[in-house]
Amino acid sequence: MSLDWSLSKIYNPRPGWYRGELHVHTSHSDGAHPPADLAEWAKAGGLNFLAITDHNRVDAFNKPDPAPDFLLIPGMEVTLQNGHFNVYGLEGKYDWQEDICIGLFTVKLAGKYLTTTDLMRHTAAQGLLNSINHPLRVPFDWRDDETDLQYVHCVEIWNKPDAPDTIRSNPQAIALWTEWLKAGYRTTAIGGSDHHSLKLMPGEHKLTERLGWPRNYVYAENLSGAAILTAMRQHHVYVSMGPEVTFQAVIGDEIFNIGEDLGQRAGEIRFLADIFDCPLPAYAQIIKNGSAVREVPVNTRQASLEFNDYLHPADPAWYRLDVYDEAGLMLAVTNPIFTGPQRQPVLKRFGDFVDRV
Ligand SMILES: [Zn+2]
Ligand SMILES: [Zn+2]
Repeated sequence: MSLDWSLSKIYNPRPGWYRGELHVHTSHSDGAHPPADLAEWAKAGGLNFLAITDHNRVDAFNKPDPAPDFLLIPGMEVTLQNGHFNVYGLEGKYDWQEDICIGLFTVKLAGKYLTTTDLMRHTAAQGLLNSINHPLRVPFDWRDDETDLQYVHCVEIWNKPDAPDTIRSNPQAIALWTEWLKAGYRTTAIGGSDHHSLKLMPGEHKLTERLGWPRNYVYAENLSGAAILTAMRQHHVYVSMGPEVTFQAVIGDEIFNIGEDLGQRAGEIRFLADIFDCPLPAYAQIIKNGSAVREVPVNTRQASLEFNDYLHPADPAWYRLDVYDEAGLMLAVTNPIFTGPQRQPVLKRFGDFVDRV
C-alpha cells in the first residue's frame, strides 16, 4: 500500500472533533523519520490526522511508502530567509514551487514572486491555506514587515514547546494574534510541535520532542483532508497542550460553537466553557475583544465557567476561552466565537503589529 495523500478520501464519515498535528518534518528534509513511521506513531498517540510540512520539499508525497490507514495532509514549510510559513492542501505541482523547491533548506524569494505577499496571494488563490509559523521566534521569526495579513489564513500560536526559546516567543505569538483579532482579522490560531525526531540526536541536550504536543482539535464535517482544511478556514479549532475543552454560546435555545459567526444580533447571550483533564494548578479565562471578562482558578482536573453578556447588533465582538498554567504557559486556547459586523482592518501589514506585543 502507498501513502494516500488524497484530500477527498474519507476516513470517518461522522462530523466531530478530530485531533491532529499540523507541523512535522520527515527524513525527506531535516527530520529523522519517514512519513509512514510518523503516521504510525501519530495513530498510536491518539491523533486522527497529521500534516507533513517538510522544508521546501514535497518528496514525502512522491515516494511510495507503506503506511497505516491514517489521514495525512500534504503541506510544506515554505522556508524563506525572512520567515517560515506552512501551506496546507497541496495537490500536484504548482508553478511557484520552481523557485522554492530548489534543494535548499532556506531560500530567498526570487523569480516570479518577489515578496511574501505576492507568493501568499498566489497560493491563497490556488486554494491553499497559508499559516505563518513561529512568528516571533528569533532567529526563525517572521521578518517581512510588509506582509499583507489578508492572505494569512492561520498563525501558529504555539510552536515546539520543548525548545527553550519558545517559552518567550509562544506567549508573544498569542499576544500578536490577539492584536490581529482586535484589528478585525479572523486569522485561525493553530499549534504545531515542529517535530523532527522522537529521540535525542547525538550532541543534542534538549528535551525529547513530542508528536502532537501541542495538538489541534478541529471540528470537521468528516475525517478527510478537505474537511479538516475547510474547518481550519472556518476557525473551528482549538489548540491544546493536554486539556480537552468545550466553549459554546447560547442564545435562547440556539447553541453556537468555537469559530462560529453569529452575525448581527441583539440581546442576551451566555457563554459556557468546560475544561477536562487539566494539569494543575491552572487558570481559565473568557476573553472578550482582547480582555479577560471572567477568570477562575482551576483547582480540580475538571472545571467550568460562564459569562453572560448583551449583544448590540452594530458592535463587532469576539469571545474565546484561554487556559494557562501558573507560569502563564498555554494549556488550551480556542479560536473565537464572533458576533456583530466584521471590523474592517485599518492596519494591513505584519509590521504594524509587532511593536504592540
Ligand atoms: Zn520553521
Ligand atoms: Zn518546522
